[in-house]
Amino acid sequence: MGEVDLHVHTTSSDGTLTPSQVVRLAKERRLEAIAITDHDTVDGVKEALEEGERESLEVISGVEISANCKTGSLHLLGYFVETERGILKEKLERLKQARSERNPKIVNRLNDLGVTITLQEVVRASGGGQVGRPHFAQILVEKGYVCSLDEAFDRYLGQGAPAYVDKYRFEVKEAIDVVLKAGGVPVLAHPFTLDRSPEDLETLVGELTRDGLRGIEVFYPDHTSEQTAQYHRLAEKFGLVKTGGSDFHGALMEKTQLGIVGKNIRLSYRIVEDLIRTKHELISQA
Ligand SMILES: [Zn+2]
Ligand SMILES: [Zn+2]
Repeated sequence: MGEVDLHVHTTSSDGTLTPSQVVRLAKERRLEAIAITDHDTVDGVKEALEEGERESLEVISGVEISANCKTGSLHLLGYFVETERGILKEKLERLKQARSERNPKIVNRLNDLGVTITLQEVVRASGGGQVGRPHFAQILVEKGYVCSLDEAFDRYLGQGAPAYVDKYRFEVKEAIDVVLKAGGVPVLAHPFTLDRSPEDLETLVGELTRDGLRGIEVFYPDHTSEQTAQYHRLAEKFGLVKTGGSDFHGALMEKTQLGIVGKNIRLSYRIVEDLIRTKHELISQA
């Protein structure tokens, strides 16, 4: 059985490779399947599917939705979503709208703080994809206001910093619902970012499972072996599919490589089969 990578970004969100380039890279790396999981958009899926067809590489339509949960935010992956479903399009459009309102606000805050920056500059830095805070940070570094991306976040853009503008997000139950209604399988992404004690995480995953969660991203480059083991146990306890992926973003984050989730860990195509089985269960329950 071949290897897979089920967490991949493209220029449709904040990745640096186009959907076609990502597919060709996956082919070079001899992967059998990849899932395109851009932030809050499925715009890159069609191109990736078409390139996948040409390259004989299986492409899974996916999305990664940011959502609010009790103590912050979390990322929800949706696999095998039907990208043309009205509800998915509508909801993602709503997020896009909110995002486009947010960026000019950040520009204004920065201008008020004495930073000379325009929206056009930031849009250019994004290379035509979604504009996000990393692009603002990049410009701040280029213009010499800060020395590093980290400093840009600490001094200006991070939560609690003076140019931070809150982001509109779905509540997590709503995000799970959108994925289910679009025919997809909802999966909790990189649980370590939730920064919860094992007990709290277990409670949360239990609640999310009651809301319709069907999988958990067990394998991820930043997970320690203890965390991987913990998420494995949670998956067993709640009957969730164990997924994994690199969270590849292209050149932006050089340490992440397509198809690689950790030392000596390769993801088997079996995960895709588990997701397909789950999708069929969901259809038969509907
Ligand atoms: Zn994420
Ligand atoms: Zn991601």
